[in-house]
Amino acid sequence: MDKLIRIAIDGPSGAGKSTISRRVASELGILYIDTGAIYRAVGLFMLRAGIDPADADAVAKVLPEVRVSLRHDGRGQRIFLENEDVSELIRTPEASRAASQVSAHPVVREHLLSMQRDMAKSASCVMDGRDIGTVVLPDAELKIFLTADVEDRARRRMLELQERGTPQPFEDVLADMKERDARDSNRPVAPLRRAEDAELLDTTGFALADSVNAVLRIVQDRIERMS
Ligand code: C5P
Repeated sequence: MDKLIRIAIDGPSGAGKSTISRRVASELGILYIDTGAIYRAVGLFMLRAGIDPADADAVAKVLPEVRVSLRHDGRGQRIFLENEDVSELIRTPEASRAASQVSAHPVVREHLLSMQRDMAKSASCVMDGRDIGTVVLPDAELKIFLTADVEDRARRRMLELQERGTPQPFEDVLADMKERDARDSNRPVAPLRRAEDAELLDTTGFALADSVNAVLRIVQDRIERMS
């Protein structure tokens, strides 16, 4: 493909964004950028520093010290704090909560904006998050808003945690998911919402392969119309 294509995939937690985005990027041979990992790394930094991630002033004060970077190698995207690979450490429920809390602070979002835009400047990519189509890449060639029922998303997340060897009861995962949904959707800055020009895809009841295929169909259709 000669033309640059930037695909923005947004949606709530557990809608399958990262798995689907990774597969789609690999199928197209383009970069996958998981922006949630950046917020998670910032959340992890705060937890380690003993700072309450919900405390905007305290977070703002240490933000300039946070050295977060994304690197791509044979295993795909890796996320670093300074020179430490924290790609696995950011996946705990504590880091998830901290990510959601720090991401509600405007100063944090502003701090991470240019980094995200720079990454998509010169390379075709699939970028996933909450505000990619609305704020980070408002002129993306394709925007998809991926969603599913909250129970369905909690079930998927529960299986994922089981596979990772860190099982959690369904009720806890569901409560966590609802709390994050509310915070992500109701924050005043860059709330989770569908961009007007985003394709809506509801994957409730879909197996993963069906979701990947549905996204690939939308992407192929757009590529054909671009050429
Ligand atoms: O996508 P993931 O669950 O890894 O994201 C972790 C948290 O980071 C989300 O709950 C959300 O609050 C925040 N986030 C965000 N904007 C993005 C990506 C993630 O606010 N573009």
